[in-house]
Amino acid sequence: MDKVDLLVVGSGIVGLAMAWTGARRGLKVAVVERDHRCVGASIRNFGFITVTGQREGHTWRRAMRSRDLWNEVAPQVGIDVLHRGLWVLARRPLAADVLQAFSQTDMGRDCRFMQADDAAIEAPELRTEGATAALYSPHELRVESRTAIPLLAHWLSCRHGVQFHWGHTVLGIEEGRVHTGAGEFTADRVALCPGTELTGPALPWLADLNLSLTRLQMMRIRPEAGFRLSAAVMADLSLVRYAGYAALPQAAPLLNQLQQEVPASLEAGIHLIAVQSADGSIVVGDSHHDDRTPEPFAQEAVDRLILGHLQEAVRLKSCEVVERWTGVYPTGHSEDAVIRAPSPDLRAVVVTSGTGASTAFGLAEDVFMDW
Ligand SMILES: Cc1cc2nc3c(=O)[nH]c(=O)nc-3n(C[C@H](O)[C@H](O)[C@H](O)COP(=O)(O)OP(=O)(O)OC[C@H]3O[C@@H](n4cnc5c(N)ncnc54)[C@H](O)[C@@H]3O)c2cc1C
Repeated sequence: MDKVDLLVVGSGIVGLAMAWTGARRGLKVAVVERDHRCVGASIRNFGFITVTGQREGHTWRRAMRSRDLWNEVAPQVGIDVLHRGLWVLARRPLAADVLQAFSQTDMGRDCRFMQADDAAIEAPELRTEGATAALYSPHELRVESRTAIPLLAHWLSCRHGVQFHWGHTVLGIEEGRVHTGAGEFTADRVALCPGTELTGPALPWLADLNLSLTRLQMMRIRPEAGFRLSAAVMADLSLVRYAGYAALPQAAPLLNQLQQEVPASLEAGIHLIAVQSADGSIVVGDSHHDDRTPEPFAQEAVDRLILGHLQEAVRLKSCEVVERWTGVYPTGHSEDAVIRAPSPDLRAVVVTSGTGASTAFGLAEDVFMDW
């Protein structure tokens, strides 16, 4: 293969964001991916491009920028935005306190805090009986990741001339030479975006961080015909998990209450996200179990807890599970993402939280800022 300006290892959203950002800067770009198509976290997620609730600072800023870039790129690529916005429904008065406090922060500026009865008028699908309040955020987008990611790769290839080399595992990288089982690629610069592959070629530049992995359980359910979510839905448990809310002083008493009332859900790292697909099905999750090598076994009891939280938040008559899967992402770094620059021609870029779909485009721009 001819030498390229930028060689990206990994075809997940972080690798594709690096490839797009490099191509927009006029670079000749190639992507090397060990699988024959992307099957990692980037196609297993909710496709939920979230701004509200992200950690204040880099993560929130990158999410805002990425949201704008998703809006720009989606119509060009042919990716449908399936719904926009987010409802966070507070059942407990202490959860309402968190939402109200959040709405008064800079990050909450464009969000609307309201009583549950008012939310019921705007979003009749929410189960507002017994709820106290809700927050509506206008920022969010929802795409179907399992089709959006291949579409994005195809568009990068056709529109920007990015070369894709599928089915090549990168074994090592040294001074612009990238070794695979099938031969060598050469590049002026290499961006290593390995996702969960922390013990592969990225190990020398990540080992000191002691990153771990988080495994999530996910489901797709089929609701009754005609059921519509007007926006993504989250609920009380999200307010002690998502850093943008959890860092508020009001989140501590809520956490205490949740520890008393729903210890099994907290133990399984459960919080609710529900988003809808074009065929009406709903993707719902998730749980969080951390381990350096995650268990491959999904637990039915955890799925049942997730479904219970879904039915508590949303007025569903039918909730047939039609698909289950697990996904994994790296974890264990306080900044949600790591950019390592071991040499002038090499960058290792890893999202260390469940935020890559929401932040990758902004993150890639940050990588190129001083590269
Ligand atoms: C279940 C689940 C739900 C999530 N929900 C959301 C959400 O709704 N919103 C959100 O913002 N984020 C979400 N996330 C997080 C988000 O999906 C990840 O942060 C993001 O996908 C990470 O992208 P990535 O490109 O780093 O990793 P990946 O998608 O895992 O891609 C890495 C790629 O690198 C390749 N690779 C690794 N090593 C090599 C090698 N040596 N040679 C060649 N190729 C290699 C892998 O094969 C893989 O294709 C979720 C994650 C999970 C698991």
